Amino acid sequence: MKKLALHWQIIIGMVLGIIVGLILIMGGWGQFSNDWIKPFGTIFINALKLVAVPLVLFSLIKGITSLSDVSQLSSMGSRTVGIYLFTTVVAVFMGLLLVNITQPGKAFTEETRMEFSQKFAETTGDKTQQARQVKDKGPLQPLIDVVPGNVFQSFTDNKNMLQVIFFAILFGVAIVMVKSPVTEPVKQLFDGLNEIIIQIVHIIMIFAPYGVFALLTSLLVDIAGDDPQKATELLGVLGQYAFTVTLGLTLMIFVFYPILLMVTTKYNYKKFFQGIFPAQMMAFSTSSSAATLPVTMDCVENNLGVSNQTASFVLPLGATVNMDGTSLYQGVAAVFIAQAYGLDLSIGQQLGIVITATLASIGAAAVPGAGIIMLVIVLEQAKIPVEGIALILAPDRILDMMRTVVNITGDSSVCVMVEKALAKKNGTGKLDGESAEAA
Ligand code: ASP
Repeated sequence: MKKLALHWQIIIGMVLGIIVGLILIMGGWGQFSNDWIKPFGTIFINALKLVAVPLVLFSLIKGITSLSDVSQLSSMGSRTVGIYLFTTVVAVFMGLLLVNITQPGKAFTEETRMEFSQKFAETTGDKTQQARQVKDKGPLQPLIDVVPGNVFQSFTDNKNMLQVIFFAILFGVAIVMVKSPVTEPVKQLFDGLNEIIIQIVHIIMIFAPYGVFALLTSLLVDIAGDDPQKATELLGVLGQYAFTVTLGLTLMIFVFYPILLMVTTKYNYKKFFQGIFPAQMMAFSTSSSAATLPVTMDCVENNLGVSNQTASFVLPLGATVNMDGTSLYQGVAAVFIAQAYGLDLSIGQQLGIVITATLASIGAAAVPGAGIIMLVIVLEQAKIPVEGIALILAPDRILDMMRTVVNITGDSSVCVMVEKALAKKNGTGKLDGESAEAA
């Protein structure tokens, strides 16, 4: 018999988690969940956290070393990276704007939010303490913090992810610059390590249905105690959160990219959309930009008329570093969790989220569930309780499917833009989907 697709298994895990949670609440058997179900949720979260550092390290080094030389970074590279950064930052802003308007986390009653913040008062207190310490330091301290004095120390703490990213970029660029036969095995070693760590993510994801089940059951029990009304409240609020992410992703696809393409290339969006639709479907069902890459390249080259030279550079790079859907989601998720814990984020803190969500989406591997792992960094940098991830884990797989569609749509849009810019520079012909007046 054919095995059920993972996303269906996760959906079943979610539904069962809710049902079992409600039964335990109604029967007053909350302690059973604490003793026998909740630990599996904790193990699942730990497993996600444990791969964060190696995932970033290997996937970034692999991405950079796939460039043939550093000057390639400066011509097509700088243009591509610039536009990629722009779209990612716009996506986080969009997410932050929406979540500040819809305020899904505030839909928890005052009482529930108080309970949250009391329950995690210790962690929050710790973080506030840390925040105060940071405030007492000079204005350039964040910059100093990016450059570690001892990189092995950075590897030992997920909080030091920016240092890990810094080291990975430095290391990758140096490998590209050395270009000697002796560095070739090192490059291959990192390619191999990257494959291995991605496989570990796949293995962890096999347990996602059980993790989701345990987290959802224990979350309902934790929040509701013996009060079923509270459980219904949680599900309603999660629905609002998922709606906010979905709205943001929809706006990216149907408003932002069409405007961007119209303004910069006069490309016919309907033709663009039809051309990449197969890749979008692939992204939806695999939740992986990396797995979708061959289809994306095929669609962009054969259906949109982009040259192989541009597509083969821009798309693989984009699959690794450009994740507009992921960054939008991280912005929404971070603020949602903060709202749920009754933390009011200042404009400065939200701007911090823009930076970390941009970096975190760049560092996220193009595989299912990578976005939520990197969310740990965004939360830790913004001093939002990481435990809050438990709140959003349940609907994550479905949101992952949708944000992956946005990720590859963003890559394809930028690919068309870069092709157009290069064609203009070289005075060559126009793309298939461009309107006549654009020539
Ligand atoms: N699954 C996404 C991708 O492959 C990454 C994420 O988890 O957001 O693009």
